[in-house]
Amino acid sequence: MKTYSLYIDGRFVDACTTETLDVLNPATQQVLARVPSGGAEDVARAVAAARRAFDSGPWRDVTAQERGRILFRLADTVRRRAAELAELETLNNGKPIAESEFDMADVATCFEYYGGLATKIHGDVIPVPDNAMSLALREPIGVAGQIIPWNYPLLMAAWKIAPAICAGCTMVLKPAEQTPLTILELASNFEEVGLPPGVVNIVTGLGEPAGAALVVHPDVDAVAFTGSLETGRLIMRAAADGVKKVSLELGGKSPNIFFADSDFEAAVDGALFGVFINQGEVCSAGSRILVERGVYARFVEAITEKARRIRLGPGTDRNVKMGPLVSADQLERVREYQEVGKAEAKLALGGGRARGAGLDAGFFVEPTIFYDVDNSATIAREEIFGPVACVIPFDTESEALRIANDTPYGLAAAVWTRDIFRAMRVVKALRAGIVWVNHMQPTYVEAPWGGVKQSGIGRELGKWGVEEYLHVKQVHINLNDRPIGWY
Ligand code: ADP
Ligand code: MG
Repeated sequence: MKTYSLYIDGRFVDACTTETLDVLNPATQQVLARVPSGGAEDVARAVAAARRAFDSGPWRDVTAQERGRILFRLADTVRRRAAELAELETLNNGKPIAESEFDMADVATCFEYYGGLATKIHGDVIPVPDNAMSLALREPIGVAGQIIPWNYPLLMAAWKIAPAICAGCTMVLKPAEQTPLTILELASNFEEVGLPPGVVNIVTGLGEPAGAALVVHPDVDAVAFTGSLETGRLIMRAAADGVKKVSLELGGKSPNIFFADSDFEAAVDGALFGVFINQGEVCSAGSRILVERGVYARFVEAITEKARRIRLGPGTDRNVKMGPLVSADQLERVREYQEVGKAEAKLALGGGRARGAGLDAGFFVEPTIFYDVDNSATIAREEIFGPVACVIPFDTESEALRIANDTPYGLAAAVWTRDIFRAMRVVKALRAGIVWVNHMQPTYVEAPWGGVKQSGIGRELGKWGVEEYLHVKQVHINLNDRPIGWY
């Protein structure tokens, strides 16, 4: 069993606290590693290192080209270590190994994209009605505090770190307490890729105290958070005292809408992929499956039969298509919703903890399908973050849209139809930050990611992602070489 320490100012260092956290393999509950349970003092040390690196360290003088090269070297490192990192990710998070391998490829691509973008951040020259030159410079915002969840551990770290390095910021990242291992492993390569000390710091620990201390620290200029709505609200409130820039990527209860004219087999696949990939622990999970009445009964039957055959087990087994949930807490949360659902709707599949050979020691739940769900039911309104699908029938396009938009969330949505006119009408009418047509879930580092309504503020990825780490400075250069003569 490995013991990790914090990564601060370019070195692995002992925490101020002696408290530690056990990091588990959720398929077996075996302890994989131990990490420090960082506290406010550790956060303060990390923020001080980030502040120094930004204000007076070498980072200010590192050129955009060199920041780009650092990111390219990080991408190369991830590709070189992909097999090992993917295995560690699966051991720690539980997800099937093939999904971790996709994640590692996405991590590398994310570093690469922002490596390329580093040399393309430039401002504007603005025509003004005077003998003057007006400029808008785009500058790094300073020290970023970054807090991430456990569902895509290294990928979420890359989504935060890459654009911040690209922009020229320094940062303190707090990984989720359940899944800190892959980013700590990657930190061992930070020095060799050329990251100066203090640019990226990693403090492991609980939301309270470590995350909370990071949000309120006066030397943190911006807070970037991905996680639950509940914690997002706490963070936004806590950041208000310092009037900090906040970006939030929160939950969803995303509708996946199927019209009767869509390809039936593709639709069945798309419904299951949309809600069960990554054990359903996906912020954009298509957890409300809306189906046109004409094909509804056949659709419920088909997805149920297919989902019944999903193979559960430890993600390290290549035949497995669904791993355990990440933690005992998450298992309990999902189990509660399964019970709530049984009182609110009809159960087509699952509904309990998954038992059997190789499953009993882990946090496995059965893929669960509820149908005839009313959109006002708790299971249709609250994010479950597990493999629980709610199937809801509809009769008309306008009814589908009314149900789809009747949610406090607005992260993602998908529509399946062969009618291009209907597809475009629905795309325009859906209140969501991401909309798929005849697919659900694939996304690209080049494209914007984020939500409307209570799904968050700001956009990650693409050219939009770097904006969260920049501010605009207006510069007025007077070209009159004479007194203005006002007094
Ligand atoms: P979950 O409850 O499923 O773990 P959260 O949204 O609470 O989801 O956690 C996501 C991230 O937010 C984790 O890194 C967690 O440690 C952190 N976190 C939790 N509570 C707080 C808080 N009060 N302040 C700052 N960060 C927090
Ligand atoms: Mg929480």
